[in-house]
Amino acid sequence: MYKGLVIKTTGSWHRVKSDNEIINCRIKGNYRLKGIKTTNPVAVGDMVDFYREKNTDVGVITKIHARKNYIIRRSTKLSKEAHLLAANIDQAFLVVTLARPETSLEFIDRFLVTAEAYNINTILIFNKLDIYNKVKVEELKAITKIYTDIGYPCIQTSAMDGTNINSLIVKMKGKINLMAGNSGVGKSALINCIDPGLDLKVDEISDHYETGKHTTTYSEMFLLKFGGYVIDTPGIKGFGIIDFERYEVGLFFTEIFKTSRKCQFYNCTHVHEPNCAVKLAVEKGEIALSRYRSYVSIFQDQNEKYRQ
Ligand code: GDP
Ligand code: ZN
Repeated sequence: MYKGLVIKTTGSWHRVKSDNEIINCRIKGNYRLKGIKTTNPVAVGDMVDFYREKNTDVGVITKIHARKNYIIRRSTKLSKEAHLLAANIDQAFLVVTLARPETSLEFIDRFLVTAEAYNINTILIFNKLDIYNKVKVEELKAITKIYTDIGYPCIQTSAMDGTNINSLIVKMKGKINLMAGNSGVGKSALINCIDPGLDLKVDEISDHYETGKHTTTYSEMFLLKFGGYVIDTPGIKGFGIIDFERYEVGLFFTEIFKTSRKCQFYNCTHVHEPNCAVKLAVEKGEIALSRYRSYVSIFQDQNEKYRQ
């Protein structure tokens, strides 16, 4: 029996890296996440036990080790089934851009709330610094302040001219890093910058990325030459909040959670209650309005779900 790390999954085949080799494995048995139906049993980042099949160069996975964390998304918009994207992530880098394409703040907050729920630290990368005009630079400053104030480190990069790529390398070294973000924000370009040997395919310049085209279907994990791994995920639109209770939304907006202790009602939803400390903090500018709006939007989605 050998132990290895799943570095790629394509449907029924899983590439597993052990100390000695990289081997294609199938899986035996039925693996289920507690309470969630998943379309795939294994994800990149999983540690597995496998044996080698006799007289072939393939292996069979017999055990998936307990996961430190994992991320999923809904396999289709209305489906209750989930697709496992990755497991055992040390930290996530959410790549966003303020132009070409513009990432919405709600998209960022939806990602962060999910990452909090899964106990994954997130670092925000604001990429394409080279194309921002004065107005965008000011916007960038304001947005960076919102997120650093509530505890999310922010790095401003350009894959085009190499700005701050070294800080990125320092942060990624020796860890299992997840790269997430809408299509077209420059994930592949950034990965190629930090490790040119990987030579990922970067989309040709065109405007199709404005609509968010998905080119990768399966997550893949790449070994970094300076140590550690990077996981490139398929477009994470609809990054699923699946096993979420409605009241939890407020727990995973860290600044809202902290302030909510001062609300009059212990079960305050911060939407319609009187003497709500959260709404007061928004009025006073202590909690960013954009964060509060994202909270309400996500909270209302969860309400929808409960009415179904
Ligand atoms: P992905 O879909 O997130 O992997 O995005 P890609 O890496 O494929 O990049 C999408 C497009 O943005 C490509 O045309 C890249 O050349 C371009 N791009 C990526 N990073 C930067 C950057 O920092 N500055 C500029 N100006 N363009 C970038
Ligand atoms: Zn409240």
